[in-house]
Amino acid sequence: MPRVLLVEDDDSAARAVEKSLRMEEGFVLKRLPRPERLISNLLDFKPDLIVLDIGLSGFDGREALREIRQNPSVNDIPVIFLTGLSGEKDKALGLNMGADDYVTKPFGALELLARIRAVLRRGRFRAPKTPKSGLFVDLESREAFWDGKPLNLRPREFEILALLASSPGKALDRFFLIERTSPYESTASPRSLDAHIKNIRKKLGKKASALETIPKVGYRLNFDAL
Ligand code: CA
Repeated sequence: MPRVLLVEDDDSAARAVEKSLRMEEGFVLKRLPRPERLISNLLDFKPDLIVLDIGLSGFDGREALREIRQNPSVNDIPVIFLTGLSGEKDKALGLNMGADDYVTKPFGALELLARIRAVLRRGRFRAPKTPKSGLFVDLESREAFWDGKPLNLRPREFEILALLASSPGKALDRFFLIERTSPYESTASPRSLDAHIKNIRKKLGKKASALETIPKVGYRLNFDAL
């Protein structure tokens, strides 16, 4: 029976998580409204997975994650971040610092359940140290790598790829991509987005098809094709 510890201060979000887990039998859920005594709660409850809100009143969920990852007796427990809509950058940072996945509020019950299942299937957390294979987006150095080799993306190309990579398998709206990656003073142009996508595909080489065009929406990074 998978045991899930939910750290969430917001009652309606907590109910949404409960609803998700009730769709399938056998989950044991415990909720902490605040991450106080987090480590001792983890040691008592021994969860297989932690669902952690980033925006906890008076706390920063990322601090809680850091605490978990620094403690050798609990640091391999997978963590899914729950984030508010405005926190795209936070999410990406969350993945970089060792969250296994994140889900944006409001989320569908099925979506969260699918993410939880996927993370549980993957098993215990393994630190994502510059891997020698596949795509690696390093948010600190702002460089992306394929099989350990830099893709040499230009700054806006990097921003676009990093946004797509922080939403694996999700189609991102083209206007969202333009807005999030345009310098303030410039006029956002859909055409320049297309040009950047073309360049990213060129740099991805054989894996270019993983950057999919989703008609009438925008673009998606298909991790299964990477
Ligand atoms: Ca919250």
